[in-house]
Amino acid sequence: MADAGCIFCRIIAGEVPAQFVIGDGDVLAFLDARPLFPGHTLVVPREHVVTLPDLAPDRVEPVFATVRRVAAAVVRGLDADGSFVALNNVVSQSVPHLHVHVVPRRRKDGLRGFFWPRTKYADDAEAEAIAARVRAALDPPEG
Ligand code: AMP
Repeated sequence: MADAGCIFCRIIAGEVPAQFVIGDGDVLAFLDARPLFPGHTLVVPREHVVTLPDLAPDRVEPVFATVRRVAAAVVRGLDADGSFVALNNVVSQSVPHLHVHVVPRRRKDGLRGFFWPRTKYADDAEAEAIAARVRAALDPPEG
């Protein structure tokens, strides 16, 4: 179902222009209007879902198969060295329609790991306690 107020639904419907890399099917790809580097592409499901956990399990493979395909194409097509693949869920997500960023990367392109400030665990016990909390929340459970 499309959401009439969603800019990406409007792009998918052809109401707002975009440069499509993949313009047909259940999963589409178009250029980000404010690219980190030329060729920065957004891969989006046609269906309006907001975050990755909202995506039905049987839709995950088509979305990420397309991400894989586009990640290869930006390198081959633009003579890049590699790519950066990212997906914001709620925090730092400025468009509430699931989209995976596929950004062509070149060595020394200045992106420097996306400016992520890194932290540390106090010790192994703290790391294990955090891992245990995430393990306990897995749905379906592990094992
Ligand atoms: P995020 O901040 O992770 O939600 O990413 C949203 C992305 O959508 C940003 O990189 C924007 O530049 C991009 N964007 C927003 N509006 C448009 C548009 N009309 N066409 C193409 N890209 C857009």
